[in-house]
Amino acid sequence: MVHEYPEYLDEFECIGGHCTDTCCSGWEFDIDPETAEIYKELPGEDGEYVRSKLTHSEDGSLCIRPVDGGRCPFLNERNLCDLILKYGDNVLSDPCAEYPRYYTDYGDYEAVDMSLSCKEVGRLFFTRDGRPTVYKKVEDDMVGDALSADEKSRLAERIKVRDGMIREIYSKSEELFINDAGFLKSDEDEAIFSKLCELEYYHYRWDEYLKKLSEARPVIEERSQEFFDAGREDILRWFRYFSEYLVYRYTLSDLAAGVPIEDTMRFIKRSLRIVYMALCFRWIASGESDVESMIDIAHYYSKEVEHNLWNVATLRE
Ligand code: SF4
Repeated sequence: MVHEYPEYLDEFECIGGHCTDTCCSGWEFDIDPETAEIYKELPGEDGEYVRSKLTHSEDGSLCIRPVDGGRCPFLNERNLCDLILKYGDNVLSDPCAEYPRYYTDYGDYEAVDMSLSCKEVGRLFFTRDGRPTVYKKVEDDMVGDALSADEKSRLAERIKVRDGMIREIYSKSEELFINDAGFLKSDEDEAIFSKLCELEYYHYRWDEYLKKLSEARPVIEERSQEFFDAGREDILRWFRYFSEYLVYRYTLSDLAAGVPIEDTMRFIKRSLRIVYMALCFRWIASGESDVESMIDIAHYYSKEVEHNLWNVATLRE
Protein backbone atom coordinates (compact mmCIF):
# COMPACT_ATOMS: atom_id res chain seq x y z
CA MET A 1 0.00 0.00 0.00
CA VAL A 2 1.12 3.56 -0.72
CA HIS A 3 0.67 6.02 2.15
CA GLU A 4 0.85 9.68 1.20
CA TYR A 5 1.14 12.43 3.79
CA PRO A 6 2.19 16.08 4.15
CA GLU A 7 5.68 16.61 5.52
CA TYR A 8 4.52 18.57 8.61
CA LEU A 9 2.99 15.35 9.94
CA ASP A 10 6.51 14.15 10.85
CA GLU A 11 7.03 17.23 13.02
CA PHE A 12 3.91 16.86 15.15
CA GLU A 13 4.18 16.02 18.82
CA CYS A 14 1.24 16.05 21.21
CA ILE A 15 1.95 18.49 24.05
CA GLY A 16 -0.40 16.62 26.41
CA GLY A 17 -0.85 18.38 29.77
CA HIS A 18 0.50 21.66 28.32
CA CYS A 19 -2.24 21.84 25.71
CA THR A 20 -4.55 24.86 26.14
CA ASP A 21 -7.37 22.73 24.77
CA THR A 22 -7.82 19.02 25.06
CA CYS A 23 -8.99 16.54 22.48
CA CYS A 24 -10.43 14.44 25.30
CA SER A 25 -13.47 16.65 25.78
CA GLY A 26 -16.46 17.77 23.80
CA TRP A 27 -17.35 14.74 21.69
CA GLU A 28 -18.25 11.08 21.80
CA PHE A 29 -15.34 8.68 22.40
CA ASP A 30 -15.91 5.66 20.19
CA ILE A 31 -14.34 2.32 21.05
CA ASP A 32 -13.31 -0.03 18.27
CA PRO A 33 -14.26 -3.74 18.64
CA GLU A 34 -10.69 -4.93 19.45
CA THR A 35 -10.33 -2.37 22.24
CA ALA A 36 -13.80 -3.28 23.55
CA GLU A 37 -12.48 -6.85 23.98
CA ILE A 38 -9.42 -5.55 25.88
CA TYR A 39 -11.66 -3.54 28.23
CA LYS A 40 -13.79 -6.63 28.87
CA GLU A 41 -10.71 -8.52 30.08
CA LEU A 42 -9.15 -5.83 32.31
CA PRO A 43 -8.85 -7.47 35.73
CA GLY A 44 -9.85 -6.43 39.23
CA GLU A 45 -11.45 -3.30 40.59
CA ASP A 46 -9.59 -1.12 38.10
CA GLY A 47 -11.11 -3.13 35.26
CA GLU A 48 -14.57 -2.76 36.83
CA TYR A 49 -13.98 0.97 37.10
CA VAL A 50 -13.08 1.25 33.39
CA ARG A 51 -16.16 -0.76 32.39
CA SER A 52 -18.41 1.38 34.60
CA LYS A 53 -17.50 4.40 32.43
CA LEU A 54 -18.65 2.79 29.18
CA THR A 55 -21.99 3.09 27.49
CA HIS A 56 -23.63 2.51 24.10
CA SER A 57 -24.13 5.24 21.52
CA GLU A 58 -27.34 5.66 19.49
CA ASP A 59 -26.14 3.22 16.83
CA GLY A 60 -25.47 0.56 19.48
CA SER A 61 -21.69 0.74 19.40
CA LEU A 62 -19.63 0.94 22.58
CA CYS A 63 -18.26 4.32 23.64
CA ILE A 64 -16.93 6.12 26.71
CA ARG A 65 -19.57 8.10 28.62
CA PRO A 66 -18.39 11.74 29.00
CA VAL A 67 -18.70 13.34 32.43
CA ASP A 68 -19.99 16.85 33.15
CA GLY A 69 -18.62 19.40 30.73
CA GLY A 70 -18.12 16.68 28.11
CA ARG A 71 -14.75 15.53 29.47
CA CYS A 72 -13.57 11.97 29.08
CA PRO A 73 -13.83 10.34 32.56
CA PHE A 74 -10.26 9.05 32.19
CA LEU A 75 -8.84 12.55 31.71
CA ASN A 76 -7.29 13.56 35.03
CA GLU A 77 -6.95 17.03 36.56
CA ARG A 78 -3.51 17.45 34.91
CA ASN A 79 -5.19 16.77 31.53
CA LEU A 80 -3.35 13.45 31.19
CA CYS A 81 -5.00 10.17 30.28
CA ASP A 82 -5.35 7.80 33.26
CA LEU A 83 -5.76 4.83 30.91
CA ILE A 84 -2.33 5.44 29.37
CA LEU A 85 -0.76 6.13 32.77
CA LYS A 86 -2.08 2.86 34.15
CA TYR A 87 -2.05 0.47 31.20
CA GLY A 88 0.09 2.10 28.46
CA ASP A 89 -0.81 3.15 24.89
CA ASN A 90 -2.06 -0.29 23.91
CA VAL A 91 -5.43 0.10 25.63
CA LEU A 92 -6.36 3.19 23.63
CA SER A 93 -9.18 2.91 21.17
CA ASP A 94 -8.26 3.67 17.52
CA PRO A 95 -9.84 7.16 17.40
CA CYS A 96 -7.91 8.18 20.57
CA ALA A 97 -4.65 6.56 19.48
CA GLU A 98 -4.79 8.05 15.97
CA TYR A 99 -6.01 11.56 16.76
CA PRO A 100 -5.18 14.12 15.36
CA ARG A 101 -4.15 12.00 12.38
CA TYR A 102 -6.81 10.71 10.05
CA TYR A 103 -6.61 8.15 7.31
CA THR A 104 -8.53 7.71 4.06
CA ASP A 105 -8.03 4.36 2.37
CA TYR A 106 -9.05 3.60 -1.17
CA GLY A 107 -7.73 0.28 -2.44
CA ASP A 108 -3.96 0.26 -2.10
CA TYR A 109 -3.73 4.00 -1.61
CA GLU A 110 -3.99 5.84 1.71
CA ALA A 111 -4.05 9.61 2.26
CA VAL A 112 -2.97 10.63 5.74
CA ASP A 113 -3.38 14.07 7.26
CA MET A 114 -3.98 15.77 10.60
CA SER A 115 -6.97 17.65 11.91
CA LEU A 116 -6.94 21.38 12.62
CA SER A 117 -9.22 20.69 15.58
CA CYS A 118 -5.93 20.10 17.46
CA LYS A 119 -4.49 23.53 18.20
CA GLU A 120 -0.96 22.21 18.20
CA VAL A 121 -1.48 21.01 14.63
CA GLY A 122 -2.87 24.49 13.87
CA ARG A 123 0.25 26.13 15.30
CA LEU A 124 2.52 23.92 13.23
CA PHE A 125 0.34 24.34 10.16
CA PHE A 126 -0.32 28.10 10.03
CA THR A 127 3.10 29.32 11.17
CA ARG A 128 4.82 27.83 8.11
CA ASP A 129 6.67 30.27 5.84
CA GLY A 130 4.33 30.12 2.85
CA ARG A 131 6.19 27.55 0.78
CA PRO A 132 3.98 24.87 -0.85
CA THR A 133 3.46 21.74 1.23
CA VAL A 134 5.74 18.84 0.46
CA TYR A 135 4.00 15.46 0.33
CA LYS A 136 5.83 12.25 1.10
CA LYS A 137 5.01 8.74 -0.03
CA VAL A 138 5.93 5.53 1.75
CA GLU A 139 5.12 2.06 0.52
CA ASP A 140 4.69 -1.09 2.57
CA ASP A 141 3.32 -4.59 2.07
CA MET A 142 -0.13 -3.89 3.52
CA VAL A 143 -2.92 -4.80 1.13
CA GLY A 144 -6.05 -2.66 0.77
CA ASP A 145 -9.48 -3.63 -0.53
CA ALA A 146 -9.45 -4.94 -4.08
CA LEU A 147 -10.64 -2.32 -6.59
CA SER A 148 -12.35 -2.85 -9.92
CA ALA A 149 -10.72 -1.32 -13.03
CA ASP A 150 -13.37 1.38 -12.92
CA GLU A 151 -12.61 2.23 -9.28
CA LYS A 152 -8.89 2.33 -10.01
CA SER A 153 -9.41 4.80 -12.79
CA ARG A 154 -11.71 6.93 -10.57
CA LEU A 155 -8.97 7.00 -7.92
CA ALA A 156 -6.29 8.03 -10.44
CA GLU A 157 -8.59 10.72 -11.83
CA ARG A 158 -9.47 12.08 -8.37
CA ILE A 159 -5.80 12.26 -7.34
CA LYS A 160 -5.05 14.13 -10.58
CA VAL A 161 -7.90 16.59 -9.94
CA ARG A 162 -6.82 17.05 -6.31
CA ASP A 163 -3.18 17.73 -7.20
CA GLY A 164 -4.24 20.09 -10.00
CA MET A 165 -6.42 22.02 -7.55
CA ILE A 166 -3.55 22.27 -5.05
CA ARG A 167 -1.28 23.69 -7.78
CA GLU A 168 -3.96 26.26 -8.67
CA ILE A 169 -4.28 27.29 -5.04
CA TYR A 170 -0.65 28.41 -5.12
CA SER A 171 -0.68 29.93 -8.59
CA LYS A 172 -4.04 31.73 -8.55
CA SER A 173 -4.95 32.03 -4.91
CA GLU A 174 -6.13 35.65 -4.83
CA GLU A 175 -8.38 35.13 -7.84
CA LEU A 176 -9.79 31.91 -6.39
CA PHE A 177 -10.48 33.36 -2.95
CA ILE A 178 -12.10 36.53 -4.27
CA ASN A 179 -14.02 35.12 -7.24
CA ASP A 180 -14.80 31.53 -6.22
CA ALA A 181 -14.97 31.61 -2.44
CA GLY A 182 -16.39 35.17 -2.46
CA PHE A 183 -14.19 36.63 0.26
CA LEU A 184 -15.20 40.22 -0.42
CA LYS A 185 -18.83 39.57 -1.28
CA SER A 186 -20.72 36.34 -1.73
CA ASP A 187 -24.19 35.52 -3.07
CA GLU A 188 -23.91 32.29 -1.10
CA ASP A 189 -24.20 33.93 2.33
CA GLU A 190 -27.96 33.49 2.61
CA ALA A 191 -27.62 29.75 1.93
CA ILE A 192 -24.58 29.45 4.21
CA PHE A 193 -26.27 31.04 7.21
CA SER A 194 -29.41 29.03 6.74
CA LYS A 195 -27.26 25.84 6.69
CA LEU A 196 -25.36 26.95 9.79
CA CYS A 197 -28.68 27.09 11.67
CA GLU A 198 -29.33 23.43 10.83
CA LEU A 199 -26.02 22.08 12.16
CA GLU A 200 -25.44 20.21 15.40
CA TYR A 201 -22.95 21.85 17.78
CA TYR A 202 -20.86 20.48 20.61
CA HIS A 203 -20.69 23.78 22.46
CA TYR A 204 -23.73 25.97 23.05
CA ARG A 205 -21.46 29.01 22.78
CA TRP A 206 -20.80 28.24 19.13
CA ASP A 207 -24.54 28.71 18.56
CA GLU A 208 -24.40 32.09 20.29
CA TYR A 209 -21.31 33.01 18.33
CA LEU A 210 -22.95 32.25 14.99
CA LYS A 211 -25.90 34.44 15.92
CA LYS A 212 -23.52 37.34 16.47
CA LEU A 213 -21.67 36.56 13.24
CA SER A 214 -24.95 36.56 11.34
CA GLU A 215 -26.00 39.91 12.86
CA ALA A 216 -22.63 41.36 11.86
CA ARG A 217 -23.03 40.38 8.20
CA PRO A 218 -23.69 43.93 6.87
CA VAL A 219 -20.60 45.36 8.59
CA ILE A 220 -18.46 42.37 7.57
CA GLU A 221 -19.49 42.95 3.97
CA GLU A 222 -18.82 46.66 4.24
CA ARG A 223 -15.32 46.23 5.72
CA SER A 224 -14.18 43.03 3.93
CA GLN A 225 -12.04 44.88 1.39
CA GLU A 226 -10.38 47.01 4.09
CA PHE A 227 -9.63 43.86 6.13
CA PHE A 228 -8.23 42.07 3.10
CA ASP A 229 -6.02 45.01 2.12
CA ALA A 230 -4.69 45.40 5.68
CA GLY A 231 -3.60 41.77 6.03
CA ARG A 232 -3.31 40.69 2.41
CA GLU A 233 -0.07 38.68 2.57
CA ASP A 234 -0.94 36.88 5.81
CA ILE A 235 -4.52 36.20 4.71
CA LEU A 236 -3.39 34.76 1.39
CA ARG A 237 -0.77 32.55 3.08
CA TRP A 238 -3.15 31.20 5.74
CA PHE A 239 -5.94 30.55 3.28
CA ARG A 240 -3.66 28.88 0.75
CA TYR A 241 -2.77 26.40 3.46
CA PHE A 242 -6.33 26.09 4.75
CA SER A 243 -7.83 25.53 1.30
CA GLU A 244 -5.10 23.01 0.47
CA TYR A 245 -5.92 21.18 3.69
CA LEU A 246 -9.61 20.99 2.72
CA VAL A 247 -8.84 19.89 -0.83
CA TYR A 248 -6.36 17.23 0.30
CA ARG A 249 -8.72 15.90 2.91
CA TYR A 250 -12.08 15.91 1.16
CA THR A 251 -11.39 15.07 -2.48
CA LEU A 252 -10.26 11.59 -1.43
CA SER A 253 -12.53 10.94 1.55
CA ASP A 254 -15.53 12.07 -0.53
CA LEU A 255 -14.52 9.71 -3.34
CA ALA A 256 -14.43 6.86 -0.82
CA ALA A 257 -17.89 7.95 0.41
CA GLY A 258 -19.30 8.22 -3.14
CA VAL A 259 -19.76 12.01 -2.98
CA PRO A 260 -19.59 13.86 -6.34
CA ILE A 261 -16.71 16.31 -6.71
CA GLU A 262 -19.12 19.26 -7.22
CA ASP A 263 -20.51 18.71 -3.71
CA THR A 264 -16.99 18.51 -2.28
CA MET A 265 -16.15 21.83 -3.91
CA ARG A 266 -19.31 23.43 -2.51
CA PHE A 267 -18.30 22.37 1.00
CA ILE A 268 -14.76 23.67 0.54
CA LYS A 269 -15.88 27.07 -0.77
CA ARG A 270 -18.43 27.49 2.00
CA SER A 271 -15.85 26.53 4.62
CA LEU A 272 -13.44 29.13 3.27
CA ARG A 273 -16.14 31.80 3.25
CA ILE A 274 -17.25 31.01 6.84
CA VAL A 275 -13.71 31.05 8.23
CA TYR A 276 -12.88 34.24 6.32
CA MET A 277 -15.98 35.97 7.70
CA ALA A 278 -15.14 34.79 11.22
CA LEU A 279 -11.61 36.17 10.90
CA CYS A 280 -12.86 39.49 9.54
CA PHE A 281 -15.46 39.66 12.33
CA ARG A 282 -12.77 39.18 14.97
CA TRP A 283 -10.71 41.95 13.41
CA ILE A 284 -13.72 44.30 13.42
CA ALA A 285 -14.61 43.44 17.02
CA SER A 286 -11.16 43.42 18.60
CA GLY A 287 -8.64 44.67 16.07
CA GLU A 288 -6.88 41.28 16.18
CA SER A 289 -5.93 39.48 13.00
CA ASP A 290 -2.78 37.60 13.89
CA VAL A 291 -1.92 33.97 13.30
CA GLU A 292 -3.37 33.04 16.72
CA SER A 293 -6.79 34.20 15.50
CA MET A 294 -6.50 32.00 12.41
CA ILE A 295 -5.40 28.99 14.49
CA ASP A 296 -8.25 29.53 16.92
CA ILE A 297 -10.98 30.00 14.33
CA ALA A 298 -9.84 27.04 12.20
CA HIS A 299 -9.71 24.95 15.39
CA TYR A 300 -13.32 25.76 16.33
CA TYR A 301 -14.53 25.30 12.78
CA SER A 302 -12.86 21.93 12.57
CA LYS A 303 -14.18 20.79 15.94
CA GLU A 304 -17.74 21.95 15.39
CA VAL A 305 -18.15 21.18 11.70
CA GLU A 306 -15.56 18.69 10.47
CA HIS A 307 -15.91 16.26 13.33
CA ASN A 308 -19.59 15.74 12.67
CA LEU A 309 -20.36 13.93 9.41
CA TRP A 310 -23.92 15.23 9.44
CA ASN A 311 -22.63 18.82 9.58
CA VAL A 312 -20.25 18.24 6.69
CA ALA A 313 -23.03 16.63 4.63
CA THR A 314 -25.40 19.51 5.39
CA LEU A 315 -22.90 22.14 4.27
CA ARG A 316 -22.19 20.14 1.12
CA GLU A 317 -25.84 20.18 -0.05
S1 SF4 B 1 -5.51 18.63 21.15
FE1 SF4 B 1 -3.56 17.97 20.14
S2 SF4 B 1 -1.86 18.72 21.45
FE2 SF4 B 1 -3.79 18.87 22.63
S3 SF4 B 1 -3.87 16.96 23.81
FE3 SF4 B 1 -5.01 16.57 21.91
S4 SF4 B 1 -3.52 15.75 20.40
FE4 SF4 B 1 -2.35 16.65 22.14
